[in-house]
Amino acid sequence: MARISLQCRECKKDYESTFKYICDDCFGPLDVKYDFPPVSKDTFTNREKTYWRYFELLPIEQKSNIVSIDAGMTPLTKADKLGEKLGLKNLYIKNDSVNPTFSFKDRPAGIAVSKAKEFGLSAVGCASTGNLASATAAHAAKGGFPCHIFAPSDIEMAKITQALSYGANYIAVDGTYDDANRIAAQIGDSKGIGIVNINMRSYYVEGSKTLAYEVAEQLDWQVPDQLIVPVGSGAMLNAICKGFEELQSVSLLGDVSNMHMIAAQPHGCAPIVDAFKKNSSEVIPVEYPDTVAKSLAIGDPGDGRYVLKRLQQYNGFAEESNNKEILDAILLLAKTEGIFTEPAGGVSVAVLQKMVEQGKIDANDKVICYVTGNGLKATEAIMEVLQKPTVMKADVGEISAVVN
Ligand SMILES: *Cc1c(COP(=O)(O)O)cnc(C)c1O
Ligand SMILES: [Zn+2]
Repeated sequence: MARISLQCRECKKDYESTFKYICDDCFGPLDVKYDFPPVSKDTFTNREKTYWRYFELLPIEQKSNIVSIDAGMTPLTKADKLGEKLGLKNLYIKNDSVNPTFSFKDRPAGIAVSKAKEFGLSAVGCASTGNLASATAAHAAKGGFPCHIFAPSDIEMAKITQALSYGANYIAVDGTYDDANRIAAQIGDSKGIGIVNINMRSYYVEGSKTLAYEVAEQLDWQVPDQLIVPVGSGAMLNAICKGFEELQSVSLLGDVSNMHMIAAQPHGCAPIVDAFKKNSSEVIPVEYPDTVAKSLAIGDPGDGRYVLKRLQQYNGFAEESNNKEILDAILLLAKTEGIFTEPAGGVSVAVLQKMVEQGKIDANDKVICYVTGNGLKATEAIMEVLQKPTVMKADVGEISAVVN
């Protein structure tokens, strides 16, 4: 058997690893299945400080096909000051805001673009809520691919500027993310473009599972108790679960079944939270998302159903936070830990706070709060809760009066 193959998540039919993402029989999504070589903790020590250190557990066959901008191995910060404020003794922030393009999307995009190279595709692209645009465009630039971005027109200017700078063909769609996604899917299939989060999705999601690998290694191979994950499409939450399960299967971790997964969504686009609270297994799409957390504004989450299953499997919860709570949480994290995140990270911190208040997290639990994007990407929104400094005359006397 080849090192990797594909398997339908629904009917479990097996496929060879090719440029394919949907099951012929039942239209279920295909996941990468591995025949892992023996690995130990020592396998990874002293390797490069990027997620490519886990090469044996990733779906690229030849190292020469790796397209890397050195993403990953981001800090796992022991957040004692924020923890003290919230009443938690073992709180950690996985700070993915400091990846090369300033969001966790460098993980899935890097794997998908590398796989596009392995498949010999001639162009790549993505449907994006903002951050994936830059992650895909940067990897495409490094790998020498043309890159086509399909994104709703109302995303933050910093994210558009960044993606354009990497040289992408940026298509601003007058519509929602779901509109952009539908168009990207059709054009990707008709032109044979590797759309990283659509027709390359089976490989794409494999990048996000390194968010589990790194946390486990950074905790010296201990299993965390509680994980708070911001959710848009739900691909990341699902991939984090897969990552921990794989570490258990190769005996790098003990039993992971007692972890608790917590899905965090913004009010105004929280279809998974709504389904969870109604105890329903059906996610009803939000037609017009309305939230400051634009990177989570996916009304019809592709992996929504699977997130609900994961929450059930891992005794989890789903909770939402509104714009004010999100922006307050951004400032709380910045002022306690010196970490500046965009609204998606604010959603994680705000929901963490609610979980503690609701008694769903114990003071001694080992808690991982995933902070997935950088505050510099959304300064317009954050500035709304800050006071713009007044310009003062360059006069020591006058300025001295306001320095107390
Ligand atoms: C895309 C994104 C998410 C959500 O990831 P999904 O896999 O779509 O659930 C969370 N945070 C940030 C900063 C993102 O860009
Ligand atoms: Zn199937």
